[in-house]
Amino acid sequence: MITVEKLVKKFGDNTVLKGIDLQVNEGEVVAIIGPSGSGKSTLLRSLNLLESPESGTIEINGVKVTAPKISKEEAYQLRQQTAMVFQHYNLFKNKTALENVTLSLISNNVMSKPDAEKLGLKLLDEVGLSKQKDQYPITLSGGQQQRVSIARALAVNPKAILLDEPTSALDPELVNEVLETIEKLAKGQTTLVIVTHEMSFAHKVADKVIFMDNGVVVEAGKPDDIFTNPKEARTKQFLKEYL
Ligand code: ADP
Ligand code: MG
Repeated sequence: MITVEKLVKKFGDNTVLKGIDLQVNEGEVVAIIGPSGSGKSTLLRSLNLLESPESGTIEINGVKVTAPKISKEEAYQLRQQTAMVFQHYNLFKNKTALENVTLSLISNNVMSKPDAEKLGLKLLDEVGLSKQKDQYPITLSGGQQQRVSIARALAVNPKAILLDEPTSALDPELVNEVLETIEKLAKGQTTLVIVTHEMSFAHKVADKVIFMDNGVVVEAGKPDDIFTNPKEARTKQFLKEYL
């Protein structure tokens, strides 16, 4: 469903992605792990063309683009395939929980306001926030805000959801409610690509784990293989520090 080939991204003369190959099948949950600065966020952001790669191809759900020459129309089509969940939620502060979920549906004329609200309420219910539908982000806990942003991502019915360290900004006691929400999603049909430092979560929930270091995929495989029997020295070293 997602195929990335030879993806290269530079910031100035710093080559941050050094020819990444990646494959994600429909319905799969893929966890990307690796040290800070290894290029995990840049890879995720490139899938959404929030970053413009130097070269390589990205194909999602049949929409294929080849960097660096990507037309506006191609970029639009590719972005339609995914939704992103950020570390810092990025909710609109002057919109209620429900409005945050329905905003893009209404403003892009995807559906009527009543239909969007019906869907929004259903999604807020799925993330356990029906009661909070009329609350503004500032009155919600970090975990609740992140669950609103997950509902917002689901609202556009993307082929895949890209989550960049969705629990890293949360107080420890709020991490689990968000992981549980993601785990529920993972059990459904949604394809998930999640950058995370929650190793036991990745082990439990992911179908595939990708270890990145210094702009390359060092090792990829089933969680049991990566976590209990890593082959590469760099993977072993990283996991020793994290587990
Ligand atoms: P990770 O998410 O694995 O911590 P990032 O993808 O954020 O890593 O960053 C990879 C490298 O790219 C780092 O060296 C970082 O400093 C650099 N980088 C990321 N974003 C930018 C940017 N907008 N401008 C310049 N350098 C950047
Ligand atoms: Mg990052």
